Amino acid sequence: MTRPVLVPILGDQLSRNIPSLEGLSPASTVVLMMEVWDEATYVKHHKQKIVLIFAAMRHFAEELRAEGFTVDYVRLDDPANTGSFTGEVARAVERHAPSEIRVTESGEWRVHEAMLEWEGRFPCPISILPDTRFIATHAEFRAFAEGRKHLTMEYFYREMRRKTGLLMEGDKPTGGVWNLDSENREPPKEGLKAPPAPKFAPDAITQEVIALVGARFADHFGDLEPFGWPVTREQALEAAEAFFARRLEKFGPYQDAMVHGEDDLYHSMLSTSLNIGLLDPLELCHAAEAAYKSGRAPLNSVEGFIRQIIGWREYVRGFYWHQMPGLAAANELSAHRPLPEFFWTGATDMRCLADCIRTTREDAHAHHIQRLMVLGNFCLIAGIDPREVADWYLAVYADAFEWVELPNVAGMVLYADGGRLATKPYAASGNYINKMSNYCSGCRYKVAEKTGPKACPFNPLYWDFMERNRDKLESNHRIGRIYATWDKMGEAKQREYLESAEKFLDSLEPARKGWARN
Ligand SMILES: Cc1cc2nc3c(=O)[nH]c(=O)nc-3n(C[C@H](O)[C@H](O)[C@H](O)COP(=O)(O)OP(=O)(O)OC[C@H]3O[C@@H](n4cnc5c(N)ncnc54)[C@H](O)[C@@H]3O)c2cc1C
Ligand code: SF4
Repeated sequence: MTRPVLVPILGDQLSRNIPSLEGLSPASTVVLMMEVWDEATYVKHHKQKIVLIFAAMRHFAEELRAEGFTVDYVRLDDPANTGSFTGEVARAVERHAPSEIRVTESGEWRVHEAMLEWEGRFPCPISILPDTRFIATHAEFRAFAEGRKHLTMEYFYREMRRKTGLLMEGDKPTGGVWNLDSENREPPKEGLKAPPAPKFAPDAITQEVIALVGARFADHFGDLEPFGWPVTREQALEAAEAFFARRLEKFGPYQDAMVHGEDDLYHSMLSTSLNIGLLDPLELCHAAEAAYKSGRAPLNSVEGFIRQIIGWREYVRGFYWHQMPGLAAANELSAHRPLPEFFWTGATDMRCLADCIRTTREDAHAHHIQRLMVLGNFCLIAGIDPREVADWYLAVYADAFEWVELPNVAGMVLYADGGRLATKPYAASGNYINKMSNYCSGCRYKVAEKTGPKACPFNPLYWDFMERNRDKLESNHRIGRIYATWDKMGEAKQREYLESAEKFLDSLEPARKGWARN
């Protein structure tokens, strides 16, 4: 028998068009899939995230077997499982004596480094192929970044519009403008409620994984059930169709709105399926464009959705590979406060934060503005250490992979990269949250009070942040003007703000060790 090609497929590579399978016949291929302890625990992922990935892997393995592929599937509870990708590839090399190992590049730096070590370690050639499921290549991002101080997403996005032809009329953007974000900031109307996103009842394969995760990862954050994420391509397509039919129309206007207890409003809930490979970014963008062309959704919603995918999603991936490994250690604002315990327990009187943490615990999801302007804004202005914040986001969201999580946390939220991604920190007082949500009306803190024990903590924290980082921010033309307002307040008022902030910060209990990492 001829020696097979060994194709390791990772948990976020569950696409039938993954480059490492391209052109290979089932008869000459052994697919290797591995549930390994190191990956499930390098941060202590939300229980639903582990179920999502293992269940989707097991379903994908079945689909490949049905096509005739030999799938060597190593389960987590296999007694011989070494617990690492490298250990499992080594065992598979012994079992199958492959002529070649062919793998698609990893999304994460850590795994990429491990893969580079496979070269020279195993007695056969290794091919690491570019991940063509992304629209921009690494070289294209490097060319975009070359010579730019600020890597403004908008210019990159326009290149992606030109490259894909999405919403283009010749070389001009459809509707005459590239970006309709200014039309996408409606505060929530009284009683705003979106049609529900579909949830998928776990089948026998998923139920088996739920039992495994319940037994082996009981000390990880988050509710294990109810679990309703799509775990097959068929389910993911159904979720996408439901979004286009029921939510896309209002996706744009209410993109930034937040409503207590209404967890995802008009958002698509498709990030988990995109990030593990069940859906393709371009197929979603073409479907959105078709909805616009047939009059089923307005341009501001469709452009907004397409921008999130070929703009932000592609951009942060390029940014990650361009800025790593330094990005993981970046801390421009020298923030060293530990993450508060309430990020894990939800036990805070701040109603906005409590609600965002609740949905995070229940669903392993929170929508973008909750992640950015409530949770992230708090971490920014309270001066929480970027590494602790990054570990939290990576652990708690089902869609979190470092290539997408870290640029959002270190760049967009915390300004830890010194402004390469965002031209200014997204710092905001309670006013912003009050305008874009209905959180404040039921909160024990008063958003209109600026200082003192009843004042919304975002208010003094905002000014404390500004004052603390004056040397780094004052010269920034997008935010520097704010210091004129601060200076006009006078010393007594300033002292009130700083003392209120200090009292609040002193009251925070640091998170106990062991939540994010063992
Ligand atoms: C601090 C922070 C951390 C984040 N961490 C992650 C993460 O780990 N994984 C992740 O997929 N997204 C992350 N995001 C981006 C965004 O919040 C999620 O993609 C989104 O909430 C997923 O829900 P959805 O599918 O309903 O998104 P929608 O609002 O429906 O958006 C559609 C799609 O656009 C993409 N998208 C939107 N915004 C971004 C963005 N800023 N960066 C990259 N892609 C984007 C996603 O693929 C998303 O599915 C983060 C944002 C912030 C501010
Ligand atoms: S008052 Fe402040 S803490 Fe309370 S919900 Fe509003 S923004 Fe959040």
